[in-house]
Amino acid sequence: MTSTTTNDLRSQLDGELITPDDSSYDEARQVFLKGIDRHPLAVARVAGAPDVARVVTAARETGLDLSVRSGGHSRAGYGTNDGGLVVDLSPMKAIEIADDRESAWVETGATAGEYTSATAEQGRVTGFGDTGSVGIGGITLAGGIGFLSRKYGMTIDDLLAAEMVTADGEVVEVSESSEPDLFWAIRGGESNFGIATRFRFRLHEMDEIVGGMMILPATPETIDGFLETAAAAPEELSAIANVLLAPPMPFIPAEAHGEPVIIVLAAYVGPTDEAQGVFAPFRALAEPLADMVRPMRYPELYDGPEQEAAFMTGTNFLADSLSSGAAEAILEQLPQSTAPMKAVQLRVLGGAMGRTPNDATAFAHRDRPMFANAVSMYVDPAEGRAHTAWTEAVAESLGRNGAGGYVGFMGDEDEETLRAAYPNGAWERLRELKARYDPENVFRLNHNIPPA
Ligand SMILES: Cc1cc2nc3c(=O)[nH]c(=O)nc-3n(C[C@H](O)[C@H](O)[C@H](O)COP(=O)(O)OP(=O)(O)OC[C@H]3O[C@@H](n4cnc5c(N)ncnc54)[C@H](O)[C@@H]3O)c2cc1C
Repeated sequence: MTSTTTNDLRSQLDGELITPDDSSYDEARQVFLKGIDRHPLAVARVAGAPDVARVVTAARETGLDLSVRSGGHSRAGYGTNDGGLVVDLSPMKAIEIADDRESAWVETGATAGEYTSATAEQGRVTGFGDTGSVGIGGITLAGGIGFLSRKYGMTIDDLLAAEMVTADGEVVEVSESSEPDLFWAIRGGESNFGIATRFRFRLHEMDEIVGGMMILPATPETIDGFLETAAAAPEELSAIANVLLAPPMPFIPAEAHGEPVIIVLAAYVGPTDEAQGVFAPFRALAEPLADMVRPMRYPELYDGPEQEAAFMTGTNFLADSLSSGAAEAILEQLPQSTAPMKAVQLRVLGGAMGRTPNDATAFAHRDRPMFANAVSMYVDPAEGRAHTAWTEAVAESLGRNGAGGYVGFMGDEDEETLRAAYPNGAWERLRELKARYDPENVFRLNHNIPPA
């Protein structure tokens, strides 16, 4: 694409087209992982679906690579590229809550935190993940597993409709009744089928909740105890355990710094007066090193400090259960990693998320209630392979054994890993739909599903 063509595209857009000679270029090419240093030809800060369609058409006609960015948290850095075009949705954040407060339309440049704060003002909520700065674009199309998964299901279970720009530049509305195949595919198939410009979500009533962070010493007994307690808890509780060597955080006692701990993040969305009984078995596992679980408004779950990283690698899988000896394996392997920050995240799923049939959405791991994710964050890109080898080894020792993972937490993966991420016939169906909706693979900077 020559500069004349870039100028043409600029003149067509209602939003802004940022190129290397603009002072905002360095900021515009940046994504969440600060080590990712790519130089796109142009970043389109789009103003609406017509802008998105213009950029898609330009990419298709020129053959240039096309990145799509909502919150920019892709571990592989798919939200930026070298020499191609970027659709940056972040200027598009409008939220419209229906008069009956049963649903809301939202533009896909909003973050989970922004959307949640806006709907909470009306006493309503839709579930996303554990981090407020994640974009609703990426997390929704991946599936969305978070603090409401056991009570209300995944984010995609609350997705009622989406407005999409397809590879041929058309703007279409997809739902159960309009383009149902496409609606199935985007609920887990990520950005392979088009660019979502707006989502319509179901809203749930939400008043005060009880949740937050609790830190326990990590031993084989407390790790196993966490898993048993979280599985036995009512579905109103969704809990996440991050097992790691305690960083020197002010709220962790100094003598525990560097020692293995479980940072539990949890939300109980049932009757507040029953919360004490729900959290008591967690508190009984060991004397908490810190206990910040308290009544709060739902959006406060997103208030804590967020981890920044230059690079991130990880291996995750969903299974029926972890291998026996998994807790010991985690504790043995954590000190062996040389990464400045590493953790093993465990989530007990099931509940509403597990009651949806496997074939209802492209996310097809519904019958797997145990999620494990070994993660390393690091600074020197030359160390990436070593840290990936560590996360792979940890996952194997926890019982991965060929089980597929969740694409939301994946980096740049090989086809075998992606195929395993879409079990129960989902991969084959996605490939056929990719051939129908994007035969030229215009949307290829992603966890790519090759057209059949
Ligand atoms: C700190 C952290 C915590 C996380 N916690 C959770 C969690 O609790 N639960 C969970 O489920 N996931 C979680 N994730 C994973 C997260 O959901 C994915 O990384 C997600 O893809 C990020 O979305 P994004 O919009 O911020 O990223 P982006 O990099 O902008 O996008 C991610 C991918 O989606 C595509 N995409 C984004 N928006 C659109 C759109 N509108 N249309 C088409 N394609 C689009 C991009 O092209 C890219 O391939 C977490 C990630 C991080 C980094």
